[in-house]
Amino acid sequence: MTPVIALVGRPNVGKSTLFNQMTRSRDALVADFPGLTRDRKYGEGTYEGQRFIVIDTGGLTGDEEGLDAEMARQSLQAVEEADIVLFLVDGRAGLTSGDELIANNLRKTGKRAHLVVNKTDGQDPDIAAADFYSLGFESTFQIAASHNRGIRSLLECLLPSE
Ligand code: GDP
Ligand code: MG
Repeated sequence: MTPVIALVGRPNVGKSTLFNQMTRSRDALVADFPGLTRDRKYGEGTYEGQRFIVIDTGGLTGDEEGLDAEMARQSLQAVEEADIVLFLVDGRAGLTSGDELIANNLRKTGKRAHLVVNKTDGQDPDIAAADFYSLGFESTFQIAASHNRGIRSLLECLLPSE
């Protein structure tokens, strides 16, 4: 069985950057402005011989209007399709109300999600992660997607070992 990993989180936290690192493709557009990836996007990756599918999404904003609603719908569909849900947050921006809304929405799906604090480069990763403790996740991963840091240990923990 090939595990399916969904990447969710508000725009600009680094989902597409992580997707690219995990799939080593140029498929997912990475942009400096939020909301470019509007549809969910599928990619294939391997780690230590274990194949996996990763889904990039346009981002949950917690807003129910217009394009945001469509992106939220796509993200929730990705969550339903997934075996593993990664909830990305921005370790530079710190905790935002958007993160809290998404955490609540994820809780309602009943699916367990892992908190992934991205952009921990150039700062103490533990201090960056501490800002998100109040979201109440059991385990927190600290990564810097654009520096390809923390991704191997993330996959190591998430993927079933032979
Ligand atoms: P998405 O909207 O969640 O898909 O976010 P993107 O992957 O498009 O990334 C948004 C911005 O954050 C881009 O400018 C990325 O280069 C930047 N970014 C992504 N990961 C990191 C990281 O680990 N560290 C830093 N400093 N910037 C990052
Ligand atoms: Mg994106």
